[in-house]
Amino acid sequence: MLLDRLRQRLLDRKAAGLLRQRVTGLGPSDRVAHRDSGAVLNFASNDYLGLANHPTVLKAFHEGLDRYGAGAGASAMVSGHSLAHEQLEHALADWVAPLFPECQCLLFSTGYLANLALLTAITERGDALFCDKLNHASLIDGMRLSEADHRRFPHRDMEALERLLASSQARIKMIVTDGVFSMDGDLAPLQALLNLAERFDATVIVDDAHAMGVLGEEGRGTMALSKICSERFILMGTLGKAAGVSGAFVAAHPLVIEWMQQAARSFIYTTAPPPAISHALLQSVEIIRGDEGSSRRNHLTTLIRHMQSHRSALNTIGLQLPESITPIQPVLIGDNVAAMQCSMALACAGFWVPAIRPPTVPEGTARLRVSLSAAHTIEDVSYLCSALTAPRD
Ligand SMILES: *Cc1c(COP(=O)(O)O)cnc(C)c1O
Repeated sequence: MLLDRLRQRLLDRKAAGLLRQRVTGLGPSDRVAHRDSGAVLNFASNDYLGLANHPTVLKAFHEGLDRYGAGAGASAMVSGHSLAHEQLEHALADWVAPLFPECQCLLFSTGYLANLALLTAITERGDALFCDKLNHASLIDGMRLSEADHRRFPHRDMEALERLLASSQARIKMIVTDGVFSMDGDLAPLQALLNLAERFDATVIVDDAHAMGVLGEEGRGTMALSKICSERFILMGTLGKAAGVSGAFVAAHPLVIEWMQQAARSFIYTTAPPPAISHALLQSVEIIRGDEGSSRRNHLTTLIRHMQSHRSALNTIGLQLPESITPIQPVLIGDNVAAMQCSMALACAGFWVPAIRPPTVPEGTARLRVSLSAAHTIEDVSYLCSALTAPRD
C-alpha cells in the first residue's frame, strides 16, 4: 500500500545519503543566520547583494502594505494587476532596455512559473526546444510540459547544438539555457548561441536568475556582459535572489509579452503577487542600477576573487573549486554522504554551506555550494576557506 511504499522509498534515499531535510531559520536570512543550533555565517543564500535586509527595501515593503494591502486578491488578468505591478514592469523594462531593440516586461509570482510559461505558451506541436543538459529544474519541467519536441545538448557543447539545429525540421526553434548555471557558477556562451540562432533562425531563452543584479553594467546580467542587444533573445530574471524580495519577470519583444498574457497558463491561472512586493522591488531595482549597486557588485567581485585565490590550496587536499566569476562557488566532493558530512562539520564550525546532491546535480558530483554575498566581509571568506582546508579526522 502507499504508506509502505513511501516508507521504503524514504529508507532507500536515506541509505543513499539522499534524504533532504529543511533547516529552520529563526530570524532574517542575512550575513549571519540563526539556526536552533546557534548563529552561523550564511553561505547558503542567493541574496547576492544583501538587499533582502536593506533598510530602504524594507521601508518600501511596509509602505507598500499600507498603500495596497496584503494581497492582490485575484489573477493579474482579472483584478490583481495594481499600479505597483505596472510601475515595476516599467522600471524593469527601463533597466533592461539596452538588451533589446524593443522591450517590454511581464511580472510573474516566481521564476519557476515564468519558466513554465515561456516553454509552454510560445511553442506548439511541430516546434522544437534545444536545452542545455544542466538547465535549472524549472526549465526541465517546462520542457516536459511543452508540446514542442525537445532535444538536450551536452553542457555548453556548441558543436552538438549545431548538429541538432542542422538536422531539425521544426518550424520554430528555441534554444534554452541558464545564463549562469545554478550549481556550477559557469556562464552560457551567449555570443555563440546568438550566432547559431541567427544561422538557424532560432530564438534564445536565457534564464538569468543568478546574474540579474550581479553581472554586467548596472547588473543587467549575462546579455549585458556579452554586449548582446537582439530581438532573438527572451530574458527571464528572478527577483528573489539579488533583488532580495520575490518574483520574476520576462523581458522580450512586446509581441512575446502580449502573447504570454493571452496564453501563459502559469501567468493567467494564479493569483498576482502581493503589490507590496512590487513596491519594495522598485527600490531594489533603483539600488541595483545606482552607485550603491555598483559598489556592492565591486565588493562582491573582490570576495569572488578572494575565494578563487584558494583554488590550489583546496586542490591540494582533494577539494576541487572550479573557476567561477560568479557568486556561485561550488566545492566538488563527489560522494553524497561525504558532502553531507562536510556540510555538517562546517555547521558545527559556524558556517552554513549546503550540500547539493543528485538529482539536483549529476550522479557522483555532490558538492558544497558556497554562495557569496556583498553582505560578507573579506574575513568571512578567509574564515570559510580556513575551515574548508582545516585538517579533519
Ligand atoms: C531560482 C531559480 C529559478 C526559480 O526562481 P524562483 O523565483 O525561485 O521560483 C529559476 N531558474 C534558475 C536558474 C534559478 O536559479
